[in-house]
Amino acid sequence: MSAEFNLIKQYFTRNTTQTDLGVGDDAALIKISAGHQLAVSSDMSVEGTHFFQNAAPYDIGWKSLAVNISDMAAMGARPKWATLSISLPEINADWLSAFSAGFFACANAFNIDLIGGDTTRGSLNISVTILGEVVTGKALTRSAAQSGDDIWVSGHLGHAAIGLAHLQQKIALDDKSREIALSALHQPQPRVSVGLALRDIANSCIDISDGLLADLSHILKASSFHLDRMDLVKSDLMGATLVLENIPCFAILKNQLQESSIQRAILTGGDDYELCFTAATKQREAIAAVAASLNVSLTRIGETNATGKLTVQFAQQNLNMTTLGYDHFA
Ligand code: ADP
Ligand code: MG
Repeated sequence: MSAEFNLIKQYFTRNTTQTDLGVGDDAALIKISAGHQLAVSSDMSVEGTHFFQNAAPYDIGWKSLAVNISDMAAMGARPKWATLSISLPEINADWLSAFSAGFFACANAFNIDLIGGDTTRGSLNISVTILGEVVTGKALTRSAAQSGDDIWVSGHLGHAAIGLAHLQQKIALDDKSREIALSALHQPQPRVSVGLALRDIANSCIDISDGLLADLSHILKASSFHLDRMDLVKSDLMGATLVLENIPCFAILKNQLQESSIQRAILTGGDDYELCFTAATKQREAIAAVAASLNVSLTRIGETNATGKLTVQFAQQNLNMTTLGYDHFA
């Protein structure tokens, strides 16, 4: 048996539960449930860009799959299958077992089968493709926000950014905060059940990977245009107003909201993988019911409008977006 074959068998072949033919042949075979569309998304994780060279391999395994699952959550899709293409500088058994343990811990937590991939030698680079199912016509897209929608987020923002700042020795944290911040950074928990529950409630949705302002602006931009025949036509340019005090974050941040570094962590910090979604105001009770039934906090942080501008209010004043390091999309 070749080393590559052995490696695939040992580290990347596990029993599957919803797959007709998994790892081992030239292609995998899967069946899509009736009345569903296939949702497909890929994300690459590159050493030095997405994780530090000395990052724990377990965390790299967990996170490389989790960030892909998060894209399914944002679509209101149920993730079911993944492929893993990996290039490795060397065959390091300790590294591979820890990576594999983290990857499959995440796969098991979200009921995903690893059904194939590719393995080559090269600098460390991990590319995952995730496949999921969404009820036909029910996907949550970025482009259907309506002016006057409430803007909501799940969970808390800024945890991962604070964890990163802590690793870079920019801020000190007490034990409990450090644990929360580092686990948000290293082992994000994608909001699959929230995305599924929002399918008939939200108008638009995105997962927050690049920071709230950047990702919300994707919704605003995508919802400002519509397809007329084959041409993109500008409708009213969509804008939004957020209220900083209403954005859920660490208690330790709440009383330092006047600090621009704290504002940046909350508004532009990436890697949180929470959902940001918009919904009509008449959906408030339904959203509260989703939050209660899933035991997840869902918080209203602002509203969309037809101004074409994204503004953030703090102490009833508009924050200066440029000092936040935020490039307005317009
Ligand atoms: P081929 O030469 O046909 O591309 P490979 O030797 O690359 O086959 O892969 C053999 C089998 O192992 C295929 O089913 C492939 O999908 C699977 N595979 C390869 N690398 C991985 C990996 N990192 N994770 C999961 N499955 C993998
Ligand atoms: Mg191959």
